Amino acid sequence: MGDAVRPRVRYAPSPTGFPHVGNIHTALFNWLFARHTGGTFILRIEDTDQDRVVPGSLEAIYESLRWLGLTWDEGPEVGGPFGPYFQSERLPIYRTYAEQLIASGHAYRCFCTEERLARLRAAQEARKEPPRYDRFCRSLPAAEVAGRVRAGEPHVIRLAVPETGETSFHDLLRGEITFKNALIDDQVLIKSDGWPTYHMANVVDDHLMGVTHVLRGDEWISSTPKHVLLYRFLGWDLPVFGHFPILLTTSRAKLSKRRGAPDILELRDRGYLPEAVINFLALLGWAPDEKTEILSRDELIQRFSLERVGATPAVYNPEKLDWMNGYYIRQLAPDDLAERLVPFYQRAGLIPSDSVPAAMRSLVHRLVPLIQERIKTLAEGPELTDFFFRDDLVYDPALLIAKGWSREQTLDALRQARARLAALARPPEAFQAAALDPAMRALADELGVKTGPLFGVLRVAVTGRTVAPPLFQTMEVLGPVRTLERIDRAINLLAAGLPVAD
Ligand code: GLU
Repeated sequence: MGDAVRPRVRYAPSPTGFPHVGNIHTALFNWLFARHTGGTFILRIEDTDQDRVVPGSLEAIYESLRWLGLTWDEGPEVGGPFGPYFQSERLPIYRTYAEQLIASGHAYRCFCTEERLARLRAAQEARKEPPRYDRFCRSLPAAEVAGRVRAGEPHVIRLAVPETGETSFHDLLRGEITFKNALIDDQVLIKSDGWPTYHMANVVDDHLMGVTHVLRGDEWISSTPKHVLLYRFLGWDLPVFGHFPILLTTSRAKLSKRRGAPDILELRDRGYLPEAVINFLALLGWAPDEKTEILSRDELIQRFSLERVGATPAVYNPEKLDWMNGYYIRQLAPDDLAERLVPFYQRAGLIPSDSVPAAMRSLVHRLVPLIQERIKTLAEGPELTDFFFRDDLVYDPALLIAKGWSREQTLDALRQARARLAALARPPEAFQAAALDPAMRALADELGVKTGPLFGVLRVAVTGRTVAPPLFQTMEVLGPVRTLERIDRAINLLAAGLPVAD
């Protein structure tokens, strides 16, 4: 492919909120298309609605893309030949083209006040008509317009949409889409404060930045005829348009933040792996074939094609994401997993946040085999294993007593278990799951009890909880000293006759 035909696509977020999975889904498809075709992925910040800019959201956009490895070839921070890539820094450009549209009769100045527009809307609502501008200013005499502009009267610039006929475009996913011009509003292009609206800035930039494919969510479909008119009036070639189907919740409502679409950074903080999130999002509305579910980033790039993007809405299923994340966690090299877990132990307050003591780092590495098969998110690591990092286990002593056992029986079992475990702790290196397991099974036999309740008692004594990673591996990692101390403490709790609930 020659350079001239290499696709140029863009992700054009507005910094009006933190990017959620739906936003980044669009970014991902654009990025995959660019990487697959050897094209260019542009990041453009559409910050023309200054009132709605949310502090921190710009950084969140960068961070979300970076975390997922969706690097941009042109845009903020990296620059490029078509900058600036912030619309707020391009106001004179939009102004120039708006003037050009006025000169060619495809746009006009509108002096209608907010009050008049509000009255108009109210009247239309009362008549159950869709709210739209009545084109009052479209036929003002040129001399009057010039005079009012000279007098500094506030005004907007509107698109002069043809009153009859139709506007059509070809959508890559849906085919031909046609709108009746009579139903298209005379869209404001430049607001009275001189700032462009989304439509004006978006079209001008897509053209000037050489965007070949406009690929975005289908909530923009109804804007596209206005854009098509702008291209035509400015004498520009149309890009290819493709509108991705919306994402749905599992109850088939439109996915939104309010309906549980998580922010990308929230997924990161909950311990999803970027490779799992990418794989999962890529399969929302796209599939390489009928069956493949696990695809690495490289495989996604290799196999991605717009032809296989479906036109029906895809369902965002958090359970599937959990499953996939668990799969990716199991595939990680244990040391890699350990290093990814360290920040989660820090966040949980189990490891100091400023520096990681070597002993704690090594503890995390030793824990990995106990949890790698069990956790679905990194955050579950510290949840499941916090008792390794603290000795002040707080638990209800009643939990120590197995169902149907008496306090005396429990005490006796704990004492005998303690004695045998102590015997296995010499030398300390001998304190291994492979030795502890048969010893405790033998004890259960001798006591004439099932292993379940006996191990349950020991589990509570050693971990403070009833559900924990495998008991004997836990003891091994904890080491003989801490294991025996914990059993002693449990014995004391019971022997002290502390009130025990039935
Ligand atoms: N700024 C728009 C958004 O926030 C871009 C829409 C488009 O891609 O044209 O989604």
